[in-house]
Formats: sequence, structure tokens, C-alpha cells
Amino acid sequence: MSQHRASTVCLHGGYTPANGEPRNIPIIQSTTFRYESGEAMGALFDLEESGYFYTRLQNPTADQVAAKICALEGGTAAMLTSSGQAASFYAIFNIVSSGEHVVCSSAIYGGTYNLFAVTMRRMGIHFTFVDPDCSEEELEAAFRPETRAVFGETIANPALTVLDIEKFARAAHAHGVPLIIDNTFATPVNCRPFEWGADIVTHSTTKYMDGHANAVGGAIVDSGRFDWNAHAHKFPGLTTPDVSYHGIVYTQRFGLEGAYITKAVAQLMRDLGAAPAPQNAYYLNIGLETLPLRMAKHCANALQAAEYLLAHPKVAWVRYPGLASDPYHKLAMKYMPNGTCGVISLGVQGGREAASKFMAGLKLASIATHVADAKTCVLHPASTTHRQMTDQELHDAGISPDLVRLSVGIEDIADILADLEQALEQI
Ligand code: PLP
Repeated sequence: MSQHRASTVCLHGGYTPANGEPRNIPIIQSTTFRYESGEAMGALFDLEESGYFYTRLQNPTADQVAAKICALEGGTAAMLTSSGQAASFYAIFNIVSSGEHVVCSSAIYGGTYNLFAVTMRRMGIHFTFVDPDCSEEELEAAFRPETRAVFGETIANPALTVLDIEKFARAAHAHGVPLIIDNTFATPVNCRPFEWGADIVTHSTTKYMDGHANAVGGAIVDSGRFDWNAHAHKFPGLTTPDVSYHGIVYTQRFGLEGAYITKAVAQLMRDLGAAPAPQNAYYLNIGLETLPLRMAKHCANALQAAEYLLAHPKVAWVRYPGLASDPYHKLAMKYMPNGTCGVISLGVQGGREAASKFMAGLKLASIATHVADAKTCVLHPASTTHRQMTDQELHDAGISPDLVRLSVGIEDIADILADLEQALEQI
């Protein structure tokens, strides 16, 4: 399937029905799977044979959808998780332990920031947050001997900074650690971070991939290119025997292409259990089938909306990497020549108060704690998704108090513009 282009992979990747089998990926709504002997099942538990035994670890529906996302990203192995948050957590926790450290872009989704800066800190994992536009020297200075990974978002939610993936990859690799990229906003239709040096990609599939606000979900994809063995002392979980699996050494048994995801499934899903529901994996697959069509429409609508807002006298500023005047346009054109995403951030004249009025005045667009789905919606991050952050943290994440996040949907653009116009008139 890998020789096919993205639109074809979105429809056919991950699942090839045999004669007389369902044309759609079927929902295997079963927690358990039957075996004829205890020995046969024991071999599965020991990871000697591959097969299904319990949906907390693996389920055929979820695996087939993961395989489709894997093909879209150009990876070697992938897994679904119950949410994007679980994907971010597993992606790091799979290779970083208490007492170790991660370098992370400061421009990331507020929930991810909280997970890293508060919850994972309580687990003894420390993060240094760096300005994504920092110099190579500043980035270099953030590393410590115990650094085990680097993390950033292709297009940051909601700051809309575009990460210099190559700069972050160079720094990570110079220190013998992988670069993990949250590719939620760009999706593999617009950017494939592995082609620019990233080693692992995560997604909140809740966003464009599902695309219809149907199901919360996440995904992790491994490029299979990071050489864990070359830095074996940093990643003993992958390169030395796992006592909880009868001494398996993941890199030996599953190779560089399979070790990371197999460990995440075998240990983290087994012990923490953030498994996707088969039904949700099915919904996700339906969304994936039209992802390229929707992304093209999201991007075209967002560009028109951004140009309209930029020219409007009641709008103070607009940020959208697709705009030629945007500071990240050059980087966006390099990594995402076919389009970026459908999300715009803006400030209206009159600051925070005017922003509230503007949002309340919208009729077609809803105020919703969501982003990146088919219907246009707005949110004020400083008082909602990012409200746990201090003013300084908000500033570092690129979020001004007046920032309104506008997630442009795939409605007729004339109706979206008319809605913006009438809401701006009310300020
Ligand atoms: N990553 C990004 C870029 C996000 O925007 C979000 C959610 O908004 C997440 C991760 C977390 O995903 P979820 O809400 O599916 O847990």
C-alpha cells in the first residue's frame, strides 16, 4: 500500500479484505478472543506469537486503523490510544523514566503543557520548555546528561507557530535522543515530520483525522529510524531484558522498526490501559477516508477568512501560517506547501472584552472546547483550555490575553464570512 498516494491510502490503507470479507474495516466489538489451548494463548502472552487476546492490549479494528495512520505518516509501526493526551503521555513515558528529562517547545497545547509541567513532573520527569524560535545555541543549552527526548508540535495549538523540525531534529540527534512531533494540526496530508528528521509522531485523532467531533482518540507512529542500540545506555527499557515479559529485549526481538511500539503496547497498554474503543476506531476510520478532501477545504476556507479578517478595521491582528505576511509563512511553505491547517488566531480591536462580544455575536460558528472539525467554532484559550497557565506561561506559549482561536470549518466560505462580518459589526 505504501506506493499509493495519501488519498488512496486514506481509503484503502491498513486493511485488505479477503474474498467474501467485509469491505469496510469491521468493528470487532469483543473484549476477548477464543483459543483452543492454554499453550496457544500462553505464546501470545509471552509475545512469542502475534494475535489478539484482550482488547485492552490490542484489537483488530484499532490495529487496522493504526496501520492506515502508520502508512500515511510513512512509519513502521503504530498504535491507537483512547485520547491525544494518552498518546502524548505514552510517547514520552515509553522511553523516559523518573529522574530523566525532556526538552520541549514552549508553544504547545495547554493540556499537553499541564501533563508535562505538572503531572509528569510529579512522576519525577522534568521538562525544559524552550522558545520554538530559539537559536541553536539556546536549544543546545537546554539539554542535560539525563535528557531522553525532544518534543514539539508541527503547528502549535493555538499559537500557530510552525516548528523548525530540522533544527529540533539536529539538536535531538546530536544528543542521541529522538524527536517526538505532535502532528495533530497539520495531519500527514499536509506534513510528514519523518521526512524532516522526526523519529516519532503523535496525534490527537479527535481533531482533523476524525474530523466530525465524533470520537476522542490518539495515535503514536514510529519511524523505525531511531537507533536505540546506538544509545543503549539511555534506553535500557528497549535494549535490556524486560522482567515483566520473561526477559524479552524489545530491540532484539522486534528490531528498530517494531521495538518502540511493541513495548508501548505490551507494557503501557497492559499496565495503564488507555485503550481505544473499537467503535471509536471505526468512527476514526470513516473520518480518515475523507481527510485529504476536508483538509484542502479547511485550508482554502481558512486562508480566505484570514485575508478577510486582516483587512477588517475592527481586527487588531491575525495569525495564520498560510498568510504570505505571517512570520511562519516561509517555514510553512517549506514543510507544508499544499496547505497548513484550518485554524486562525486573531485579536479584535478593544482587547479581551471586545473578543467576548465578538464571540457571543457569532451565529453560525459555535463557542466550543474543540478545534479542527468540520463545523466552524471559536474559543478564548486564555480563559478556557489554557486557563491553568500563568501570564508568563501564556506569553511563552504565544497566547496573548485577547487571542481568539477561530477553527474554520468546511461550510460555504460566503456563510462563514457573513457570520464574521455580522459579529464584528456588533462590537
Ligand atoms: N495535541 C494537540 C495539538 C491538541 O490540540 C490536543 C487537544 O486539543 C491534544 C494533543 C490532546 O488531545 P485529546 O483532546 O484527544 O486528548
